[in-house]
Amino acid sequence: MVRAATLFSFNMKWSIHFVTIAGTQVRVHITFFLLLAFIWFSTRSAHGQEAALWTTVFVLALFLCVLLHEFGHVFAARRYGIRTPEITLLPIGGVAHLERMPRRPAHELVVAIAGPLVNVAIAGLLFLFLRTQPPLGIEEALAITSPTSFLMALMVVNLWLVVFNMIPAFPMDGGRVLRALLAIRLDYGRATAIAATIGQALALVGGLIGFMYFHPLLILVAIFIFLGAGQEASAARLQAATNGLPVSSAMMTRFRTLHRGHTLGDAIDFLLQGSQSDFPVVDETGDLRGMLMRADLVRALAEHGRGHPVTDVMVDCPADQVITPELGLTRALEILHASPCNSVPVLTEDDRRLVGLLTRENIGEMIMINSALNRYRRHQAE
Ligand SMILES: [Zn+2]
Repeated sequence: MVRAATLFSFNMKWSIHFVTIAGTQVRVHITFFLLLAFIWFSTRSAHGQEAALWTTVFVLALFLCVLLHEFGHVFAARRYGIRTPEITLLPIGGVAHLERMPRRPAHELVVAIAGPLVNVAIAGLLFLFLRTQPPLGIEEALAITSPTSFLMALMVVNLWLVVFNMIPAFPMDGGRVLRALLAIRLDYGRATAIAATIGQALALVGGLIGFMYFHPLLILVAIFIFLGAGQEASAARLQAATNGLPVSSAMMTRFRTLHRGHTLGDAIDFLLQGSQSDFPVVDETGDLRGMLMRADLVRALAEHGRGHPVTDVMVDCPADQVITPELGLTRALEILHASPCNSVPVLTEDDRRLVGLLTRENIGEMIMINSALNRYRRHQAE
C-alpha cells in the first residue's frame, strides 16, 4: 500500500524505528508484536512448541514479503524524484509514506503497480524452485511442517497479497491503479471521485457479507477501505480546491505578534482574548525570530509558570523553507503538513517581512467558502 503525506492523514504513532534502508525508515507498529505474541501462544497451546515456531517464522517471512512489496513502491517512486521518508508495518499490512503522490497518472500507475509486481516476482521464483522439489502429499502440503511446505505456503500467500492489494478500492494499490487509468481520460478530481465511490461501494458489499457470515476480519477490512476511500476523496478535493491559487488567497493577514520581551503569561492572555492559537515572535525591527505554538505554550506554562520568556519556547517553523505570498497554495500545504506546526509564517520574497500566517483552519475555511460560492454560481446559472 502506498500513501502520500496529506494534510489530514493520521500520524503513525506507537511505532518503533527498526532500520533505515536507502534513506527510508522502516518502522514497526507495536500492535504487530501483539499479533506475533498472539500467534505464538495460540498455536503453542493448540499444536505444541514446534508448530508455534514454524507458524511464527512463517508470519515473519510473510511480513518480509510485505516489506519488499513496499520497497517496490519506494524504488518506483524514486524514479520520479519522490522520496519516501517512512514505511510502517502494521498487522494488516504495510504502508509506504511517500512525500507526495506523482502528479502524472502514468507515473502513479507505475508506482502503485510496482508493489504487487514484487509479490508476483517472489511467487514466480518460489514456483520455479518448488518445481525442482519432489511433490508433497496433500496432508503435508496443507501443514507448514517442512521447508518445502513452508515455501509452498509462502508462494500461495504472495499470490493472495497480489489479489488483496489489487482490489480496486482506496487505499489499496488497485484503487490507485483504477484512478490512474480513469485519470488518463478524465480530470484528476473526477477520476478520484469515481474511484472512491467504487471503493466505498465495494467496502459496503464486503462489510455486508462479513456481517451475514460473521467474518470479523472482512468487516474490519471493509471499514478500513471505506474510511480510506473517503480520505483519498477529500485529499483530491483539497488539491483541486488549492490548485493554481497563491498563498496570499488563504493566508491570515490580521493576527497578533509577540515581542521578544513578552512572557508566557502575556501569550496566554492573547490566546484567551482571541481565536489565534499560534503566535509569531518578532524582534525590535519587526523581523521574525520564531513561532510560539499553542501546544508548546501550554506545556511550558506547566513547567515554568507565567514569568518565563516566550523566546525560550518558540520554534523555527518551517525550518528550512520560506513561504511567500506568491508561492502555490498546494506546495505550501505540503510544507505545512511536513512541519510539526499548525501555523506557518508568510514572508515577503525580497526583504523577508512578516505579512501573513497560514493555518490549517484558514485553508479549511477558504475551501468551504469557495465551494459555497461555486454552488451559488451553479444555482444562478440554472
Ligand atoms: Zn502496495
